[in-house]
Amino acid sequence: METVILAVIIAVVVLGAISGLVVSGRKKKQLPPSPPAAPKPSVTAPPAEPHVGEEAETPRDEERRTIEEVTLPTAEAPVAEAPAAEPEAPAAPAVEVPEPTAGRLVRLRARLSRSQNTLGKGLLTLLSREHLDEETWEEIEDTLLTADVGVAPTQELVERLRERVKVLGTRTPEGLRALLREELLTLIGTDADRSVHTANGIGNGGDEIPGVVMVVGVNGTGKTTTTGKLARVLVADGKSVVLGAADTFRAAAADQLQTWGERVGARTVRGPEGGDPASIAFDAVKEGIAESADVVLIDTAGRLHTKTGLMDELGKVKRVVEKHGPVGEVLLVLDATTGQNGLVQARVFAEVVDITGVVLTKLDGTAKGGIIVAVQRELGVPVKLIGLGEGADDLAPFEPEAFVDALID
Ligand code: GDP
Repeated sequence: METVILAVIIAVVVLGAISGLVVSGRKKKQLPPSPPAAPKPSVTAPPAEPHVGEEAETPRDEERRTIEEVTLPTAEAPVAEAPAAEPEAPAAPAVEVPEPTAGRLVRLRARLSRSQNTLGKGLLTLLSREHLDEETWEEIEDTLLTADVGVAPTQELVERLRERVKVLGTRTPEGLRALLREELLTLIGTDADRSVHTANGIGNGGDEIPGVVMVVGVNGTGKTTTTGKLARVLVADGKSVVLGAADTFRAAAADQLQTWGERVGARTVRGPEGGDPASIAFDAVKEGIAESADVVLIDTAGRLHTKTGLMDELGKVKRVVEKHGPVGEVLLVLDATTGQNGLVQARVFAEVVDITGVVLTKLDGTAKGGIIVAVQRELGVPVKLIGLGEGADDLAPFEPEAFVDALID
């Protein structure tokens, strides 16, 4: 009996020792290397497989990462030098597949119709009145002015409508709708190139470099959100993107942008809070070149209290980026709800950088969609994208026809 008990004790001890070895052996394997020093600026790798169409890592990437200090990616990232995942590590967020851009305005049409109801349908109702007297024309004018169309464009439109209604004869609802549609489209313009220029440029060394897009605007307009949404638009269109968090003024901006990037597998180059935006922008393009990305999107800080400071900073960001090669697009983000104030902002920004396109945000929350006309007149550049909500895919290419149809149908 004693022998049996002894044999059992020995067996338990031996088994315990073996399993202990296995566990400690596993533990050893899982031990990560000592963490890297704080990055300055750092490049955060996306948390999971890059999306379709993104280039695989090149040896140059690895080399660069050992030179620069790189924040190690989270669990499942495909970076060679990443340590094996700790079982306790929080699961990396899955990379999302953004909604295709084509047809987004169709989905968002109801939101647009709702917010711009007074403009489109209001005008139609007024034009359908039995007697188009002076008072009615004044109401039409007021409707346009209230929607922020601007004084000169309003007068032009009213004049043309008066002329055309006169020769129209019978005013059928269909006839009036067609007339208003045509005139609103003339006012907004259908010929402008509204594509966001993201094509590769030729770098100063003669090689191809990623398309570079700078996003500028006053803080609070939705600039960082728009940069994140635009990354999704580009990824949806099959492009690989690197983000540059050059808004070092607003504390949470870099984290916010990085989260947007991680959701679609785009790297974010960032620096310390209050750091030099130009150097982050420079590094972002450098990173884009290193990983042969299609597009680099640079979020910038926008404070208007010192115009000279803003001028210096934005001008410097652009000049420093241009040491790599051309900036293909400078998008000005304007909050549609700010009305005339938005136009003042537009003027200031246009003085400091060459704006090539406008993004009008928060059109879902205001009836002042006429600002599209006013801002295009003011800057002489087209509205290229519109924001219609806080959802990740609520940024749509601006299509005048779809826009006007949503207004009056
Ligand atoms: P930034 O300081 O200019 O970078 O501003 P943020 O990107 O942080 O955006 C400010 C707020 O505006 C956030 O709450 C966004 O969700 C919101 N926002 C941005 N675009 C839109 C939009 O198109 N519609 C609505 N309703 N909210 C938006």
